[in-house]
Amino acid sequence: MNRRIGLFGGTFDPPHLGHTRIARAFADQLALDTVIFLPAGDPYHKTAPRAPAADRLAMTRAAAAADPRFAVSDLDIVRSGATYTADTVRIFRQHYPAAALWWLVGADSLAALHTWKDWQTLVRQTGIAAAPRNGFTPTALPQPLHHWAAQALADGSLHLLSAPPDNISSTDIRGRLKTGKSTAGLLDPAVAAYIRRHGLYTDDTDTP
Ligand code: ATP
Repeated sequence: MNRRIGLFGGTFDPPHLGHTRIARAFADQLALDTVIFLPAGDPYHKTAPRAPAADRLAMTRAAAAADPRFAVSDLDIVRSGATYTADTVRIFRQHYPAAALWWLVGADSLAALHTWKDWQTLVRQTGIAAAPRNGFTPTALPQPLHHWAAQALADGSLHLLSAPPDNISSTDIRGRLKTGKSTAGLLDPAVAAYIRRHGLYTDDTDTP
């Protein structure tokens, strides 16, 4: 049987329980054999990550230990320069020509899909699955995505995750770590231990 693979790109700065919760829900609802987390090396459409790629990779591996369907790839870290989702998916498509591929996102990322390099090629290479997120619903998309979204919903290549949204975000967690607030219920204990051990996010410069 053809493998069903979810590709979950993110900064994972740090990975949190919102990530693993939606990854699990995607795996359940799309009957995925595996969800591959892909920490970004050099995100071109976001401010620079606060933690080094090696730490974000190690934390993502710790978070991914929570479910046997989860795996982690360093593909986007070891490639030099800016990495684009369309290229990442093309590489996976070459490795798994017969697999059903799903690119997994939160609704905030989906709403910016039309700004991604070669996005129209991307959506021909992979299904897109989107989780609801605070302030963003996958159905309220910007105008440039309307035509594609209507078609993709009709032909099944866009899946909207059925799950309640939560408020967990890496930015909020970094703010809490900087100010010594609790991160209980937000981080996997193994990730929280890694952050403590390596003294990460203590001098974070995010503005709330
Ligand atoms: P930040 O808060 O700093 O923007 P983040 O929490 O969104 O970071 P990322 O690593 O950038 O973390 O997220 C990777 C992917 O996971 C993105 O597609 C994002 O939309 C999605 N995502 C992250 N947290 C949630 C959440 N709580 N609910 C739904 N999707 C989420």
